[in-house]
Amino acid sequence: MTEPQAAQAAPEPPKKLPPYKLTSRITHPEDSLVRVGDLTVGGPEFIVMAGPCSVEHDPQMLGTAWDVKLSGAHIIRGGAFKPRSSPYSFQGLAEEGLKMLSKARELTGLPVVTEVMDSTDIDLVESYADILQVGARNSQNFSLLKRLSKCRKPVLLKRGLMNTVDELLCSAEYLLAGGNDQVILCERGIRTFEPSTRNTLDISAVPAIKERSHLPVIIDPSHASGKRHYVAPLAKAALAVGADGLMIEVHCAPELALCDGEESLTPQSFRELMAQLADIAPHFGRRISTLSQHEESKGL
Ligand code: PEP
Ligand code: MN
Repeated sequence: MTEPQAAQAAPEPPKKLPPYKLTSRITHPEDSLVRVGDLTVGGPEFIVMAGPCSVEHDPQMLGTAWDVKLSGAHIIRGGAFKPRSSPYSFQGLAEEGLKMLSKARELTGLPVVTEVMDSTDIDLVESYADILQVGARNSQNFSLLKRLSKCRKPVLLKRGLMNTVDELLCSAEYLLAGGNDQVILCERGIRTFEPSTRNTLDISAVPAIKERSHLPVIIDPSHASGKRHYVAPLAKAALAVGADGLMIEVHCAPELALCDGEESLTPQSFRELMAQLADIAPHFGRRISTLSQHEESKGL
């Protein structure tokens, strides 16, 4: 009598793709790395983008850029096109501000990230910026995303104020589907019923995104909290929860800032935070290189 054949394991049914196909980990199981000059976002280096909310004038932009570079920031931030709730609030310096950001890049050697709000400004912003930022209010501006998908520069895509993680990933899909896979996601807090902070930092968005997508994700604790003394604890939480980096507002004189001074760190408190983050990063499998290690790696 012949032995009954061992039952063959049934082949696994193919996993159903979510509506964000290219953004999904199912189609791309490895973590994606986004290159910005000689920096890599999504690797072991914990990338910190820092600078003022808005570019205001040369001394403010250049002074702050220099300070954050000396503290170990990797990328300079600053808004030249500002999405303000009131039309009477400071709207940004537009191209004049982009020129100041360029000077900050020349001075520090660091790349710059800045927001583009309107499709008609993409070419202009792309000619100055190293990373184009899509702000929370434009996170589902699909025509803007379609145009940005044709850019050759990386895009920092912020989560909309009222968007789910899946909606954020669908927005990212517009960029990938159009041909730009250099996308960094940013959790910057969402609107909830809780009034103690400007927004509610959805810290669980990080593991949720990491499970569903291969794209790197950073946290913006400044816009999430709206309060400068909450920025350091939330920044440490970002490192602990597995984010790939941070975006932090820093102003050389926050009390004089034209926008978001109340959530901006002073250069001194940013320096202290960077030192603390560099100390704890290895516990979470990350590092924050010192300025000299960074320059050495560039052969300077
Ligand atoms: C910003 O980073 O300058 C900004 C306006 O942030 P958000 O779009 O997250 O509000
Ligand atoms: Mn701001």
